[in-house]
Amino acid sequence: MYESLRREISYIQGLLEGDSSHQHHVEYKGLNRLLDIIDQLIEANEQIARRLTELEEYVEAIDEDLNDVELLTYGEEDDEGMVEVVCPECGEEVLLDEEDLEDDSVELLCPKCHTLLEVEDVNEEEVDDLITATE
Ligand SMILES: [Zn+2]
Repeated sequence: MYESLRREISYIQGLLEGDSSHQHHVEYKGLNRLLDIIDQLIEANEQIARRLTELEEYVEAIDEDLNDVELLTYGEEDDEGMVEVVCPECGEEVLLDEEDLEDDSVELLCPKCHTLLEVEDVNEEEVDDLITATE
């Protein structure tokens, strides 16, 4: 995406430089400045996108570590106090603290596909049926 944006910018720069008859016009100078600014914005945006990707990978790694800690803490078989809900979008099993369900309803993000899951305050057996996905 950023490569094609840069090509577009280069193309417009080429157009402007190809005709030297208007290089002293204020429009030409203004356009050139604008192109520079857009170029910097593309650069900044690309950096943000790169950092965001790194951050997502980092959060994912933390999430996996946290899952390991949860397994160590609660045990693989014994999820007492935890309610398991299944994300309707991607099928990921999401563990939820039973105490959080004392509120009327709980909203949480699926760690895999980031769908917002709303879980109603019900007993454990019915949770799977009442889960709804909202965008
Ligand atoms: Zn999901």
